[in-house]
Amino acid sequence: MQNPPGVAGHDWLIRASPRTARPDDAACPTHRRTAMRPLLVADPAVPYSRPPREEFGFGPLFTALDLLEHDGWSVERVREELRATRGPFRGWGAPVHPAHLAWTAHALERYVAARTREQAAAVEAGLPETKPVKQPWTWRTARTDAPDARGARQYEHTLWGRMYASSDGRVRDLWLPSLGRAKTGRPDAELGAVAQVMAFGAPTPRRKQGAQPPPTETDSACLPELVRVFDVGCADGSVEELLSADPAEARQRFRDDAAPAFITAATEPGVRPGESCVDCKAIAGCTDLKRTPRLWGGRPPALARPRRSVSVWDLRLHVECPAQYHLVRRLHLNDLSAEDRGARRGRAVDAWLDAEHTERPVRGCRDREIPWPTAVQARAGLDDTSAREAAGMLAEHRLLCPLNGLDADEQVLVQHRVTAYVPELDIVVLAVPDLVYTHRGRWIWRETKTSTRPLWERDSLLHAYPQLALGVLLFHAGALGDDPRRSWVELEHLREVRGESRLERVDPGRAEIVDEARAVIAGLAQPLLDDTTYEPRTGRHCHGCQARTWCRPGTAYVTDHPRPSSPETQTPPRGDAPPHA
Ligand code: SF4
Ligand code: SF4
Repeated sequence: MQNPPGVAGHDWLIRASPRTARPDDAACPTHRRTAMRPLLVADPAVPYSRPPREEFGFGPLFTALDLLEHDGWSVERVREELRATRGPFRGWGAPVHPAHLAWTAHALERYVAARTREQAAAVEAGLPETKPVKQPWTWRTARTDAPDARGARQYEHTLWGRMYASSDGRVRDLWLPSLGRAKTGRPDAELGAVAQVMAFGAPTPRRKQGAQPPPTETDSACLPELVRVFDVGCADGSVEELLSADPAEARQRFRDDAAPAFITAATEPGVRPGESCVDCKAIAGCTDLKRTPRLWGGRPPALARPRRSVSVWDLRLHVECPAQYHLVRRLHLNDLSAEDRGARRGRAVDAWLDAEHTERPVRGCRDREIPWPTAVQARAGLDDTSAREAAGMLAEHRLLCPLNGLDADEQVLVQHRVTAYVPELDIVVLAVPDLVYTHRGRWIWRETKTSTRPLWERDSLLHAYPQLALGVLLFHAGALGDDPRRSWVELEHLREVRGESRLERVDPGRAEIVDEARAVIAGLAQPLLDDTTYEPRTGRHCHGCQARTWCRPGTAYVTDHPRPSSPETQTPPRGDAPPHA
């Protein structure tokens, strides 16, 4: 296959992880195709840079488990090492955030206890014990002289997770850690890919990035009779068995479920701007990703950083507490604490409206029945008070619905992802407006917010709702629609009480509005871009923080300041939800 613009190198090696087989409607096909070919590189080359903090949530945990499982350390010694660490853990990689180290110690204990329990049960059931495997299993085909229809001469399938085998080689186990609870299932294609590598792969030394694999197929002299896959929750130590199969079943699962997904991933044409752009080798040559230089006039940080994405929810979390942004948004730590009542209510209203606005043919909500609180409760699982509030807000929406009277040929996009690239900052901007629609050639961006309080009149709309400011800038830069003078950004502010909801409109064609939007986003984004330490900043938001279990200042704050009686939390924008959503 021909390399996409902005990519150089060889495409004859296809390297696939089970994750590649996972269905993902938001993934960009060109990104996936090039990511599966490890000998392709970005052209021009991207200089190596390191983030100021460790950004892989499981990184320190895997280092800790290596010490325990391969180097003979005790759990207590590893915990002591974690406690004493300031900076990189065991001298590897970037410095680890203190709360991330605390999470690692917590997860290590949960993991070890869970595996000890499972092994006792396995032995009880007559299975042999399994011991840690140092070199990960890989399943590789022999390199051919001529490329196949996909341009490939060799395939290499990899695994991620902790690997164990019985001393006689009959049983192989894979343990997949999850950040919160254990997952009760994974997509069939992903499990089929895992099963094949476990059943037919061989321990393989790690290679340097860009190095070629041996030309021979993997050694199949010592293959197992049984492969098992477990998911383990690092927050609560829960364990789920996801797979128990013999080699024949593993092969069948690979053929039926995984192979079609891999073929699609390796060959599908097309582009889909979004989160994929952050890691994409083809970004320099991609004309579908909209460039928006000087979107808010930000300064590049003093130290070069790997490319990042930024959303309004990132900006909001960072301004509240930089540590929360790092721990929850970047690392996805999740202590399984319940979501705020206000956020759950907002999410229920959003989901209800999405379902109605997605119906085709398009229909305004004015003529719909007012939903009963019991119906909202049944669908969203809210408490009585929240369900009553949500039903009142949905009733209010009927008059403000933007689809009332809209012509059938207008465009209505629900949860439409708007992506833009700010080249001088190397930042991919991601936004998911609640609704985007056209009206007589005009593009309109609608944000809907639910609240128990009236609109705060003393603050400007763009300050109170930075997603409106970002909408203004994206319109102004041409990331959506053609002409900012013919577009609007709207805020629908829904309250429970009849007649108290509001519709506010902002005009991205006015210079003073654009200037204010720039000031709002710059004020939020620059501290985030410059941050290298992600210090905790305590406050009311600690009550809803999903990383609080591992954050000492936040835990102390919550002990000293009990939860306010009526939390009023903004709902994360759709498509931008925190992990427990
Ligand atoms: S830059 Fe984005 S849209 Fe373009 S190919 Fe890469 S991932 Fe796809
Ligand atoms: S608990 Fe509070 S201080 Fe700690 S990370 Fe969370 S929000 Fe920040």
